[in-house]
Amino acid sequence: MSTLYEHTTDGPARGRLRLLQLYPRDMNIYGDWGNTLVLARRAQRHGYDVELLSYDPGQDLPGEVHLLVGGGGQDSGQDRIKDDLLEVGPQLRDWARDGLPMLAICGLYQLFGRGFTTGKGREIPGIGLIDAHTVAGRGRLIGNITLSTREFGEVVGYENHSGLTTLGPGAKPLGTVRVGDGNNGTDSTEGARVHHVIGTYLHGSLLPKNPAMADWLLARAVEHAGQDWDPEPLDDAWADRARAVAMSRPR
Ligand code: GLN
Repeated sequence: MSTLYEHTTDGPARGRLRLLQLYPRDMNIYGDWGNTLVLARRAQRHGYDVELLSYDPGQDLPGEVHLLVGGGGQDSGQDRIKDDLLEVGPQLRDWARDGLPMLAICGLYQLFGRGFTTGKGREIPGIGLIDAHTVAGRGRLIGNITLSTREFGEVVGYENHSGLTTLGPGAKPLGTVRVGDGNNGTDSTEGARVHHVIGTYLHGSLLPKNPAMADWLLARAVEHAGQDWDPEPLDDAWADRARAVAMSRPR
């Protein structure tokens, strides 16, 4: 574990959050780092101090974490982290069961599931935190994507993956695809929800265009830290514009 930086609020803090970015070296593409930046900045603007930690293979996991974020990666990145992920998998599953909020994008979403069968038929095992399995398809599913979700309204992002994910009975989808392909291009599901964990294919970055989801993760994190969620009203005009532009663009 390394400390990347600490943000402190301008006034007296309402609380303090420890945010952990999983595998930033190998799993961090198509702007996924933006998710971490949004969480850290919004937490600060809502009045919470943030300590941002990162974890790469072979390091020690921190003892206390309130929010965990991980990005996507190529098959080669997934190969580099897979052994380490299997080692920390039991701890991550315990944390998820305890209600720790997590956001796993694309390649990490696949490995939070039961595994990913590559285009060459090789299995990269996952940790089974999410009841899902992924098999590489023939082509790639690429472009802007819009979902309807129960908790966050319309969610907008950008997908780029070969994996076709099928959810098992233990996972609910994050949302229903309105434009785009989502988990597999056939059953209209996108992503997965279990406990306070969100797995999704949406890059973009996801959270700058979806502040409702960012604030939901922060609220769960503050509660998990045993503090009160008392947010400020923030001006999301730029996020609204970015959402509108992304939704208006054809694939
Ligand atoms: N390698 C995986 C796939 O193509 C994940 C890609 C990603 O994380 N963007 O399905």
